[in-house]
Amino acid sequence: MSDFLVIGGGIAGISAAARLSHLGRVTVLEAETSPGYHASGRSAAMFEETYGKPSTIALNRASKAYHMNANGGVLSPRGLLLVGTAADGDAFDHDVKSMRLQPISPGEARGFVPILDLRAVTRAAYHAEAWDIDTDRLIQNFAREIRAQGGSVVTGARIETISRDAAGWQVTAGDRHWAAPLLINAAGAWADRVAVMAGVAPIGITPYRRSVALIPAPGGLDIGAWPMLFGAGEAWYAKPVAGKLLVSPAEEYATEPHDAWADDMVLAEGLARYEAVVMEPVTRMDSNWAGLRSFAPDRALVIGFDPVQAGFFWVAGQGGYGMQTSPAASRLVADLIAGRAPELDAGTVAALDPARFHDA
Ligand SMILES: Cc1cc2nc3c(=O)[nH]c(=O)nc-3n(C[C@H](O)[C@H](O)[C@H](O)COP(=O)(O)OP(=O)(O)OC[C@H]3O[C@@H](n4cnc5c(N)ncnc54)[C@H](O)[C@@H]3O)c2cc1C
Repeated sequence: MSDFLVIGGGIAGISAAARLSHLGRVTVLEAETSPGYHASGRSAAMFEETYGKPSTIALNRASKAYHMNANGGVLSPRGLLLVGTAADGDAFDHDVKSMRLQPISPGEARGFVPILDLRAVTRAAYHAEAWDIDTDRLIQNFAREIRAQGGSVVTGARIETISRDAAGWQVTAGDRHWAAPLLINAAGAWADRVAVMAGVAPIGITPYRRSVALIPAPGGLDIGAWPMLFGAGEAWYAKPVAGKLLVSPAEEYATEPHDAWADDMVLAEGLARYEAVVMEPVTRMDSNWAGLRSFAPDRALVIGFDPVQAGFFWVAGQGGYGMQTSPAASRLVADLIAGRAPELDAGTVAALDPARFHDA
């Protein structure tokens, strides 16, 4: 018997379980054969402090010190360079404001990324406040914390039934079963399905596919120190990864929970948007993938007890921010479950509370 059952072994479930392992016996149940197989293994691995809604930005800020310092830190400097063309209109100004970027000249931008085509790039803005996250280490650090506290991460455990009696929750995967008084729903794109299985009203968590292509370093250049490149209005983005360039069309394609794969046409269109601002054409794609970014209807994360079903806790709707928000989000999970005053301000806690979907 555990104190806490966590369904989902992505960053949301693993980080929440790590924090909860200090409060009692925790068991993470993950359907796949390894943690982080779905969205958490497919991200762009960025920490961008000013990205997201105000409640997300509050989580980002509250996560920064952990990312910087815990277990030796998982961040390395990247920086963010926004590029705008004559066609981008208000989107460029909006991004400069929302992400608090410093406008720079296109010529200065080319100092960062020498392949920028200044016939196309008419505006640019930059800040250094963006970092690469070593996401594998982040997940492994949390998993190690779980094991060190006597908890466990069970893989290959696709939960098929969830029931509740006076003692608490019982869940099954094939002929295996687990029980605990508290059930934590960290099932990512499947969060609503897990809720329905438990007899809990779904929230409207919707998975949106986002694709990524890896291309060789443009012009064979050493691109390791280039900042992340961001097309105005998040029309595409690109960043160096281990000597190659990751380019994403940054699409948001609403879909069902599934093992996502990249759409060829969407990749081609996204690569064309990137190619429109650089002087090196894309000649080859080395690999590609896609993942699901799952959002609640209001695009804020969902962290808290279900307001109707006792013992059911939501950690869902991480959208495009699950990695960067995980230290503070998991801390909030433990604070709320332990009945401690959260470190986050009351307005942020309320903005994340699943009760917001039951007010009407
Ligand atoms: C292309 C892309 C770029 C991104 N870039 C960034 C970025 O730069 N920075 C950032 O912070 N975030 C980024 N994200 C978002 C980030 O990846 C997600 O927010 C995060 O991974 C969500 O974590 P999760 O644990 O909620 O979901 P997941 O990692 O999908 O984990 C959910 C888990 O639940 C399991 N599960 C579901 N149902 C069951 C069941 N019945 N029984 C057992 N297990 C079950 C699944 O197998 C899955 O492993 C990006 C995402 C994508 C796709």
